[in-house]
Amino acid sequence: MKRRYFLKTIGTGGLAVGVTPAWSRRYAASLQDPHSGTPEAKKEPEQASPETILLKDYRPRSLYKIPTTEVPRAKFPIIDMHSHAYAKTPAEIAEWVRNMDEVGIEKTIVLTDATGHEFDDLRRKYAAYRDRFELWCGFDYKGYDQPEFGPQAIRALEKCHQAGARGVGELHDKGKGLVSSTVHAFGMHPDDARMDSLFGRCGQLGMPVNIHVADPIWMYEAMDNKNDGLMNAFHWRLDNQPEIVGHSGMIDILERTVKKHSSTTFIACHLANLDYDLKRLGQILERQLNLYADISARYAETAPIPRFVSQFYAKYADRLLYGTDMGFDKPMYRVTFRILETLDEHFYETDMFSYQWSLNGFGLPDEILQKLYHTNAEKILRSRGTRAHT
Ligand SMILES: [Zn+2]
Repeated sequence: MKRRYFLKTIGTGGLAVGVTPAWSRRYAASLQDPHSGTPEAKKEPEQASPETILLKDYRPRSLYKIPTTEVPRAKFPIIDMHSHAYAKTPAEIAEWVRNMDEVGIEKTIVLTDATGHEFDDLRRKYAAYRDRFELWCGFDYKGYDQPEFGPQAIRALEKCHQAGARGVGELHDKGKGLVSSTVHAFGMHPDDARMDSLFGRCGQLGMPVNIHVADPIWMYEAMDNKNDGLMNAFHWRLDNQPEIVGHSGMIDILERTVKKHSSTTFIACHLANLDYDLKRLGQILERQLNLYADISARYAETAPIPRFVSQFYAKYADRLLYGTDMGFDKPMYRVTFRILETLDEHFYETDMFSYQWSLNGFGLPDEILQKLYHTNAEKILRSRGTRAHT
């Protein structure tokens, strides 16, 4: 299963809870066995011609004789601010911790998006490694169209907080309204007045909120031969859903929400899906000081433009957070380090990211890496201790 399918499972209501990162297993297997693939793929060499090769099968290999860098372990200890409850069993959780030790992840924030018993169960599951995993809860949107919604949802949040949730996420709104694994609150966006008391309570409780709005811009474009991100975009397409709030409208909703709740810390995940327009993200970060952005699952979208991106990282180094969102296999972590730390050029990770383009490293300097990997996250996590837990 490829990443696009894996992410699609998350995105269409199943969310991350209960999703096994099958793509990453297959990805790891493909690294070990260069001849793996479907029987059809094996038949290809004798049949292939430029007239019949499909973009979905396109797997170019770089022939450049240029330096390539292996980064088995991150240069500095990392707090991964964006992951999910991928490990299902004690053995898998132990394997995850071993992988974290090996690649240099000190702590992982597990965004469960769960409430009630579901949250309690997950917390129990991960309890053996309290210093390595921190579990954040979701919101309960049940009865979002009823007058008693606010107080009810606050009670659910407070229960999670009492059970150990120290943050909230990953909230999702791709344009139809806020959705969780159990409730689709159609038409209720984060800036809706019905959400005010909940976001306000997060601020009082010192719970940062991780929020996903919109999706990468290619998903909104026509699925034709001009779409630069066609292979991934098609699987995540939003261009065929005219009733949704568009990309720019969702970014406006995000900013209104963050502005309205200035004593709540927000983390716009996936670079707020402004990977294609980092200038706009920079402007929002400058206006809204309670906003951070995590870089999870947007490595492939930024690696084609490494010079522009490294300037962005330099300018907003205090506001960016490392995250993965892609399972817990070691090869996955190492690809993120290669992109962030090295100046490697024109390398492919097509099976991992599903875009047909090649990638380039940003070669971020140490002081930026340290902020991205650790300092900024630590600042957010520590600041909670000073807030009233009432
Ligand atoms: Zn996620």
